Amino acid sequence: MTATAAPAVRIVEVGPRDGFQMERTFIPTPLKIATVDAIMAAGIAKLEVTSFVSPKVIPQMADAADVMAGMTRQPGVTTVALVPNLTGAERAAAAGVDVVKQVICATETYNRRNVGLSVDESVATLRATVGSVAGRATPEAVVALSFGCPLEGIVTEDTVVRLVARVVEAGVAEVSIADSIGVAHPRQVASLLRRLQREFPGTTFSLHLHDTRGLGLVNVLAGYGEGIRIFDASIGGLGGCPVVPGATGNIATEDVVHMFEEMGITTGIDIERVMDATRSVQSFLGRALPGRVLSAGTRARALSTAAARA
Ligand code: ZN
Repeated sequence: MTATAAPAVRIVEVGPRDGFQMERTFIPTPLKIATVDAIMAAGIAKLEVTSFVSPKVIPQMADAADVMAGMTRQPGVTTVALVPNLTGAERAAAAGVDVVKQVICATETYNRRNVGLSVDESVATLRATVGSVAGRATPEAVVALSFGCPLEGIVTEDTVVRLVARVVEAGVAEVSIADSIGVAHPRQVASLLRRLQREFPGTTFSLHLHDTRGLGLVNVLAGYGEGIRIFDASIGGLGGCPVVPGATGNIATEDVVHMFEEMGITTGIDIERVMDATRSVQSFLGRALPGRVLSAGTRARALSTAAARA
């Protein structure tokens, strides 16, 4: 890793948003801020800091503006906040977020349940958000449940393509394709991302994957094989719901960084420093997080230990 070379892939840390929002216990604002600062210090250049949602819906994110105000802004680091609607977008832009990322679910039923709007209303809101944050923040969008929906079942490629067309038309240049419930498999990822990039050549696509069924990393590789170079991940694999058996979180940042770095694909991220930040969160939560490298250590460490033993 050299300071000047751009990393070959970009890992976007989403733990402070996607991970923390699932935690029942309120994580004190200073710990949130310390985590965000530590993640940036480890070389992560883009991160979802928080989410500007109604505190009635997600009490954990009630301190969104305080976290933004308290974190140490680093040159070259892009801060992202997730928003469900125009109110959230306005609050995020006012808080000085670099990227305002609006969620739209690929299915009508889930979008209504998740953000209380029809898909049409969410698209209209996105258009309003793009206009509202212009000159202050960059709008991005995430198409959630792009690979399947717990309420409507199978989500077709055509459904995702039609929604992405409307998102792009609204003025968004980077779109995250999300497997929010961890049902995607590698062929599905490759097929959808290949088609999206072919149909929207001027748009940047990223992947947001959950490891619910152990397919997280193979799905990352499937996306990488199609030219995707931006992947969301969360420290330690935070996320999911601690009271739902089998519910797991995002792919773990350490695991993704480790895989790419061992393959010679640079991330610009210091994995040991990421793990230090993760351990602080883990000790506060009082439970082991699911990330594999976090518990097993890196391959390099395992091999050097073996050499020392020989
Ligand atoms: Zn997610």
